[in-house]
Amino acid sequence: MKPKIIPVSPFDMVIFGGTGDLAMRKILPALYYREKDHQMPDEGRIIGISRAVLDHDAYVAQALEAIEREVNPDHFDAETWQSFQSRLHFFTLDALGDDGWQPLIDLLSEHPDRVRAFYLSTPPKLFGPISHNLHKKNLITPSSRVVVEKPIGHDLSSAQRINEEIGSFFEENQIFRIDHYLGKETVQNLMALRFANSLFEPLLNHQWVDHVQISVAESIGIGGRGDYYDSSGALRDMVQNHILQLLCIVAMEPPVEFNADAVRDEKLKVLRALRHIGANEVREKTVRGRYTRGAIDGESVVGYLEEKGVPADSMTETFVALKAEVENWRWAGVPFYLRTGKRMPERRSEIVIQFRQPPHLIFPKNANQVMANRLAIRLQPREGIRMYLMTKVPGPGGMRMRQVPLNLSFAEAFKDRFPLGYERLLMDVLRGNATLFMRRDEVETAWRWVEPILRGWEDMHEHPKSYNAGNWGPTAAIAMIERDGRTWYEEGY
Ligand code: NAP
Repeated sequence: MKPKIIPVSPFDMVIFGGTGDLAMRKILPALYYREKDHQMPDEGRIIGISRAVLDHDAYVAQALEAIEREVNPDHFDAETWQSFQSRLHFFTLDALGDDGWQPLIDLLSEHPDRVRAFYLSTPPKLFGPISHNLHKKNLITPSSRVVVEKPIGHDLSSAQRINEEIGSFFEENQIFRIDHYLGKETVQNLMALRFANSLFEPLLNHQWVDHVQISVAESIGIGGRGDYYDSSGALRDMVQNHILQLLCIVAMEPPVEFNADAVRDEKLKVLRALRHIGANEVREKTVRGRYTRGAIDGESVVGYLEEKGVPADSMTETFVALKAEVENWRWAGVPFYLRTGKRMPERRSEIVIQFRQPPHLIFPKNANQVMANRLAIRLQPREGIRMYLMTKVPGPGGMRMRQVPLNLSFAEAFKDRFPLGYERLLMDVLRGNATLFMRRDEVETAWRWVEPILRGWEDMHEHPKSYNAGNWGPTAAIAMIERDGRTWYEEGY
């Protein structure tokens, strides 16, 4: 069944950093797909801004190159491109300066009442100054909104400063902090699984769940972004935002309704309930790793310290494993094991909910081991949900048991193209729906949890543990979970 497409109202989207990596790889391709699905109104305009001296045609040519590269060739067609390119505008402007704003002001003032989305796809240190300039130039109208990307700060105080700066000029309900994981179909599906089915919800608590695992593995390295990555590392880059957001969606109470504040209130409660990992616990509850030379898919790759832009004395981790605990009535005593890393054997994001063993086993010992049920939610690739159940092996040989998965593959169930996370999120920005965006208190509470871990690591002053590229992290991460009598799930499908 084809989803119903509801066109958005006329808009002006101004992309500061319209020539950058994110704009070219994610934002413009996502908007192109929305064009293709006829969600863009004829009057919608997309305005790229950067300091680069480009004329309109040169910008359109750059955009075309990017879209041809990023969009599946089966989905590229000349007609869609024609209507898409007619929306594109470009202005050369140093957004930190006072001059050169007039062409943008003139264009926007043609439609002062339209939805205006200012997408700040620039380095985060520009978020505050650009917001200030937008205010000075009287460009912020009641129907304006601003979109910012991670990282929002590198610790609590820098996050507070950025939020404060943006918040001086935009109301909180005008600020859209993107975590593109929340735009993923499977992440939204997790909410559907929990709150549109009565089957699972009664079971998701300490009585029935043994533990939860959230793994976000990447096979890529740092891809020439050594300078950025080395000042960040896996905990700041992946856990503080994406993985904690996933944890919130697994652990939150049912919101009263599916709207921005109801959902975000519940996520915030989870973040507040996270037990802080003190300096004396980081050794037991966290593992930091760093890849060394190895091979991915048979191709040899260099180690992190050999990557361009990484200083020889770097202490930055490219892998982290953590044992988190949500201290509330529902989840007391249920560990949440989190891990993420670069240069792992494959790209895979998965949430596994491991249920407890049946309380009493009635089958004879030779029936094979009864394995506890497991619900695996695959976010990428091959998005889907698997419920592992015990069944009897067919045949007359007595009650022999085997665990088999009940498989819901989204690709098979829904034949249509799977939209990119950014498509949904960008349309939500234009509609003014902030449900899938992070609120200020969420971002800052997540930093409050992450900061003591960072401080504990600093005090230890130890290099991250090595793992060969192409492995699932250092052996210490396996030891961490095995100390609790559990194991990471790594089986492929
Ligand atoms: P990028 O490739 O370095 O692009 C930065 C853009 O900002 C360029 O278009 C640059 O153009 C423009 N810019 C810089 N200073 C400017 C100024 N004073 N006035 C006007 N434009 C200016 O960075 P990016 O990778 O696209 O990242 C953009 C944002 O997304 C950052 O906040 C980043 O942390 C975040 N992010 C990116 C990714 C990703 O995959 N790339 C993923 C997650 C988050 P000029 O130099 O020509 O001015």
